[in-house]
Amino acid sequence: MLELAKIPFPEVKRLADGGRALTILPVGVVEEHGAHLPLGLDSFAAETYSASAAPHLEQAGYDVVVAPTINYGVARAAIDFPGTLSLEPATLRSMVVEIGRSLSRHGLNRLVVLNGHRDLHHMKALDDARAILVSEKAAQILVVGFAYDPEMTVACYRDGVKQFYQSPRPDREGHGGESETSVALHSFPELVKTEVIPELTPNFDYDVEAFRNETKDYWSITDGRGYFGSPQAATAATGAKLVAIRGANIANVILKTWGKPGS
Ligand SMILES: [Zn+2]
Repeated sequence: MLELAKIPFPEVKRLADGGRALTILPVGVVEEHGAHLPLGLDSFAAETYSASAAPHLEQAGYDVVVAPTINYGVARAAIDFPGTLSLEPATLRSMVVEIGRSLSRHGLNRLVVLNGHRDLHHMKALDDARAILVSEKAAQILVVGFAYDPEMTVACYRDGVKQFYQSPRPDREGHGGESETSVALHSFPELVKTEVIPELTPNFDYDVEAFRNETKDYWSITDGRGYFGSPQAATAATGAKLVAIRGANIANVILKTWGKPGS
């Protein structure tokens, strides 16, 4: 796995000429995730899943290049929490389209947008960007992770992970809860305020429909707590399993759609 920002230009030419390059563009956001987790969690998670998917893709014959993460996104639901930053959907859409066009200009025209942030307007903006790049024939492009197509989200993030949950209410786990806290404890433990977690009693009793459909903001649904589910159920061991399975899931989705390079 190569990082685009860390290689010199002749290497990009070599990758493009080889015909096996696949570029992953991680997308996250700056958004509150409870008092225990960093605002950049979704960006860090997208990078974590990119690294976890890459070896599977390389084994299938791809040269995986990871582009610098888009660290900003659309985050309207949590906007009342200090530090949450939100772009207009059109801004995010333009960023992805313009990055895709630039990659394509240099022959990197297999693009996977790996999105770590669940927000309907954010996911729609990424899907609109995909449609524009497809209509311009600029790139083969796939949006994975949290996607506008709910079946894609299930295939990437939910398939095969249920048995790892230790929460007594896995159906109420969500933003900032067991899953995201576990991934953080495994992948970037230095950014988790573990001393706060004992105070974070489970939040199972919230308006689930309003959370899923984003009809109310996170501040009012959680009474200022900012998390859904039980951060206390999280462990680094669960995080390791989630990262491994989701990385494999994402690679599977890509390989199912595009096959091996040259096939
Ligand atoms: Zn998140």
